[in-house]
Amino acid sequence: KGQVFSGIQPTGVPHLGNYLGALESWVALQNEYSAVMYSIVDLHSITQPQDPHMLRDNILDMAASLLACGIDPTRSILFQQSQVSEHAELSWILGCLTSMPRLRHLPQWKMKSKQKNEGSVGLYTYPVLQAADILLYKSTHVPVGEDQIQHLELAQDLARIFNNQYGEFFPEPCALLSGTRKVKSLRDPSSKMSKSDPQKLATVFLTDTPDDIVLKIRRAVTDFTSEVTYEPESRPGVSNLVSMHAAVSEQSMEEVVRLAEGMDTGQYKNVVAEAIVQKLQPIRLEIQRLRADRGHLESLLAKGAEKARSLAAPVMTEVRKLVGFC
Ligand code: ATP
Ligand code: MG
Repeated sequence: KGQVFSGIQPTGVPHLGNYLGALESWVALQNEYSAVMYSIVDLHSITQPQDPHMLRDNILDMAASLLACGIDPTRSILFQQSQVSEHAELSWILGCLTSMPRLRHLPQWKMKSKQKNEGSVGLYTYPVLQAADILLYKSTHVPVGEDQIQHLELAQDLARIFNNQYGEFFPEPCALLSGTRKVKSLRDPSSKMSKSDPQKLATVFLTDTPDDIVLKIRRAVTDFTSEVTYEPESRPGVSNLVSMHAAVSEQSMEEVVRLAEGMDTGQYKNVVAEAIVQKLQPIRLEIQRLRADRGHLESLLAKGAEKARSLAAPVMTEVRKLVGFC
């Protein structure tokens, strides 16, 4: 029933936004599709400066986090992107089919080059590498958060452009969006929650202790109205709390708002924090347990890479023929 691919950058421990926007559906898809690939995309992560020792640790921490969330290496292929060199090779070919203006308005570049007032060529062509990740396995379905939709549209365009130029080969991949598409920063509800956000209180990490979570939710930016409502346009802060609460407690927004009737936002924050703690506590403990055995994580990733290479190699052989290299 199609081929699933998705990736996550080893830029830190995943957060509640990654979990609700992507990872939760990654787990569910393992039962619905026969071929499922999940990649720790380290080539993507170096589009921003990374300390080499920290990067190595982050890769293994990410593997531990994904396993703790329920990624099962017997039902999906979990691997590190840089261990399969075909990703970079296909990215070069697709880059030669991409015009410069096509990349200029894509969200990753706009957001991350602005933060530093500059950006590398790698950051600029990030979405081309992402298209290569997806197309390399002839993927048909890509579970992502809302922040990645425009990048996925580029992958669709590149599949079409390649097929027009070289003959029908890549299927056009489609996005699978989960119910919670975008979790907002707790400090600035106009931007998304991110691993790489330098503000410590903006992000709920899967490894946060109950005390951390209570503190962060209590300090979450809301507004001057004390009532709890779901109005994402006019009241993004409170609405972000409602939407996280609904997702972690598996209720609808209406149910959650009804439950909060008579509470002010201060009281409601305690309820939200408690619901998040309940959801994340078992994951946090499992991450701690898995993190302790680096050897086990390394061997799992090595096995995953071997499986990924065995799928990527024949596709690249075909691509080389189509392009005229052999
Ligand atoms: P970074 O800040 O390093 O870019 P990130 O938090 O944006 O980290 P990524 O590794 O870039 O995380 O993305 C992994 C997946 O998580 C993607 O599918 C992305 O759409 C999803 N995702 C990231 N942030 C959010 C969010 N705030 N809400 C919902 N989904 C998200
Ligand atoms: Mg990101």
